[in-house]
Amino acid sequence: MVDPGYKGYSFTLSELKYLRSGKYVCPRCGGQMEKEKYSAEVSHEVFDTSVIHANYTVTQYKYRFRCGSCGEVFELEELVPPKKHSPMVRKITRVIVIIAIIAVLMSVMIGSLL
Ligand SMILES: [Zn+2]
Repeated sequence: MVDPGYKGYSFTLSELKYLRSGKYVCPRCGGQMEKEKYSAEVSHEVFDTSVIHANYTVTQYKYRFRCGSCGEVFELEELVPPKKHSPMVRKITRVIVIIAIIAVLMSVMIGSLL
């Protein structure tokens, strides 16, 4: 029996956001990039083997982006790096924590004065 196989997409939330933004700017030269759809056969081992068996053909649709200016091709994963807090975000978080501590100390001081 020939397995019908599995066809599908697999995106992270940030990848979907990038796809839906419609603004594909080349990270190398800043040129406009074109979206290309292609399919790739993916090893079944990356999936839950209790659901997809060894003889399944797993076809995964993927997107890549080709720059119209320099011709460079980027995979979607390359353009959407895994979410990391930038040093700026960390700095702002630290400032908010300090303000909160000061506010608590102030209210305690004011409370002891009254
Ligand atoms: Zn480019």
